[in-house]
Formats: sequence, C-alpha cells, structure tokens
Amino acid sequence: MPHADFYMPTRLFFGENALEKGKDLLVAAGRHAMLVTGKQSARKSGALDDVTALLKNADITYTVFDGITENPPLLTCFEAGRIAAREGVEFVIGIGGGSPLDAAKAIAAFATNPSLAPEDIFDDSKRTEPTLPIFAIPTTAGTGSEVNNYSILTLPSGVQKKTFKAADSWPRAAFVDPRYTATMSNETTLSTALDAFAHAMESYLSPRSTVFSENAALLAAREIFDVISALPAEYDAEMRARLALAATAGGMAISVTGTGFPHPLGYSLTLLDGIPHGRACAVFAGDYITYNEKSEIGRERIASFAAAIGTKPAVLKAFLPGVADVSLSMTEAEIERHVELIAGAKNYTNSPYIISKEEIFDIYRAHFLAN
Ligand code: NAP
Ligand code: FE
Repeated sequence: MPHADFYMPTRLFFGENALEKGKDLLVAAGRHAMLVTGKQSARKSGALDDVTALLKNADITYTVFDGITENPPLLTCFEAGRIAAREGVEFVIGIGGGSPLDAAKAIAAFATNPSLAPEDIFDDSKRTEPTLPIFAIPTTAGTGSEVNNYSILTLPSGVQKKTFKAADSWPRAAFVDPRYTATMSNETTLSTALDAFAHAMESYLSPRSTVFSENAALLAAREIFDVISALPAEYDAEMRARLALAATAGGMAISVTGTGFPHPLGYSLTLLDGIPHGRACAVFAGDYITYNEKSEIGRERIASFAAAIGTKPAVLKAFLPGVADVSLSMTEAEIERHVELIAGAKNYTNSPYIISKEEIFDIYRAHFLAN
C-alpha cells in the first residue's frame, strides 16, 4: 500500500495574474499589514509595488519592514515581531527570496506572543498564541518556502541555523508570479535552482516520501535539470516560469519529507564562508548519491530518480558539484569547526544511508582540506 497522506493548507496562485487571482484572500486578512522584505529585491522585482497598490485600493494600511538580510537572523525577526505587535499588524506578507519568506513566518509568531524570548520561538510549549496570518510572494525560484511551514533562522552566534516550524506557520496563500524572478542575476538564478533541485532529490530519497511528495519532487527535478543542464547564457521568461513552478513543487515535496544531509553540510559553508545556500547544498550532491548508493534501497532510489529525469546518477554526481563551483581551502582545525557546528542535525537520519560524523569529516576533507 503506498504512503499517500498529504497536508497542504496553503492556497497556491500561480502565473502572471497570481496576485489578482488571490487578492480577495489578502484583503480579507485584516486592516493593517506588515510587508517583510530584503533591501532591494521586493522593489526591484515589482512585487512590492503590486502589493501596495492592491492594499491601498482596499484601504488597508501597512508597515514595510525591509531589514531582512540573507539567512535571516532570529534577532531581526524578534525585533520586527515587536514592531508588528506595537503597530497592531493583523497579517504579514513576506516578499522576496527564502530569507524574507522564512522571516515573515517567525515575525508572525513573535507578533502574537510578545512575551517570548527570541530562542523560545523553537519551543512549542512557550508559543501559546496562534501566529498572525502569513502570505508569501517569492521573488526567487528556489526555497519553496511559500508552500511549507519551515522558517530557517540564523542563531545569535551568527554561525548556526535552526528551523522554526509551527503547525500554523504555513502561508495562508502563496502568490507565485514568475515575472518577479526576472530581475535575478544569472548567479542567483542558478544557485536558487540548485537549492530546489536539492529539495527534489533529497525529498525523493527520504524514507518519509509519499506518492505525492515523490511526484512533486520529480516534477521539480525534471524541469530544473532540463533548464540548467543546457547552461543557458540567459534565462528567458519560459525558463523562469518552469523554474518557478519547479521550486514550488520542491517546496511541497520537502513539506512532506524534510531535507537530507547536503542541507546541514551546506549551512556551514553559507554562514562561515559566504557561499549562497543552493550552491552550498549542491557541493555535496555527489557525496549524497555516493553514500546512498551504499545501501540497496538508496541505490534503487537514486537510479529511479535519475532515470525519471532522463539522466544517470554518474552524470548528476559530476554535474551538480561542478556547476556549484565552490573552491575553498581549509586547515584541519577549520574543517573541525565547520563540522562541529552542523553535528547533530536531524537531517542525517532522513535518507536510506545514514552518514556518521566521521564520514562527514571525510566528505569535508575530500572537498576542502588544504594540502
Ligand atoms: P535570499 O537569501 O532570500 O536572497 C538572496 C539574494 O537574492 C538577496 O541579495 C536578494 O536581495 C536577492 N534577490 C531575491 N530576489 C531577487 C530578484 N527577484 N531580483 C534580484 N535579486 C533578488 O535567497 P534564497 O536562496 O531564496 O533564500 C535562502 C534562504 O532560504 C536561506 O536562509 C535558506 O536557509 C532558506 N531556505 C528555506 C527553505 C524553506 O523550506 N523554508 C528551504 C531552503 C532554504 P534582497 O536582499 O534585496 O531581497
Ligand atoms: Fe534549501
């Protein structure tokens, strides 16, 4: 009997008129909104103007919080939550890449739980009030945060991430308009596509996958591999639409399964070395395949995944780390620091083959140890 349970409380509106199609849900959510963005992309993409025009038209007031930096800091979300509480914000709209979208979820929780200390957000027993309604408008095609309840936050140390995930931190609606991704540079387009591909592959291999998550993962992987393996010099509107749909499908897939070990291994490269999230995951895609091929189930799963997207495991092993193009050189002590920061993540148990800490060291040494 297949595993086929599915929960997806987010209304998805996709395409050029996504906001228009779903605007009734937005304007019914309250009288004062907080728009959560990064520095520039919400404006540059045109998404912020579209949202503010819609809100003004409906006589809904809003506060713009544009202080979300990449890999959103827990403390920034905490501060923004206080502002939201003080200003009587009734719903939160995240506009941007995964960073503002993830931040919006945390802000929506802090806003209604004003007595929470920052790190209490991870403790379900301390969050007594439901979050504010959350809406998500992605301007990258990568994280899939618009269709899941994960919010990946950087801890105050600045060198570790932790996932906040509440039963009510799903966006009420996601408005995925691929045109908002047109202003992304080629580099961000590729990196975010690699993130979505990582979601697809890691979800497909997860022991928690179901027929629905598998098919979402394959849809994502096929589209992304088809677009990026051609190494386009420019991404046209059709490619961007395919990547946007794929990223959202990948977000649905991981909403069921979570991610595997390339994700935590990549977090150290992002926070300590500044490697963008998608490329940081893709560095370890070959290792992910190689280790999983050590188990019979892993070997079968990776073979069927590759076949379903029209390629071979060996091609993926070479292609993904190749396009990630990360060359770092570390001492043994630096490797130890990277590995200690990511030890103990839950993701390690989420694939057919479970890697040990010693194997994580081996992987890091093979990639980065200076000789
Ligand atoms: P991001 O960190 O949100 O943004 C990366 C950069 O791209 C920023 O400089 C941003 O500019 C810019 N940008 C975004 N959209 C743009 C556009 N349309 N045009 C031009 N520039 C644009 O990138 P991301 O890869 O989407 O998100 C990564 C974060 O999501 C990480 O913290 C990661 O851990 C998390 N994540 C979450 C999930 C999940 O399921 N929730 C899954 C994977 C990853 P601005 O600063 O001006 O906005
Ligand atoms: Fe990711």
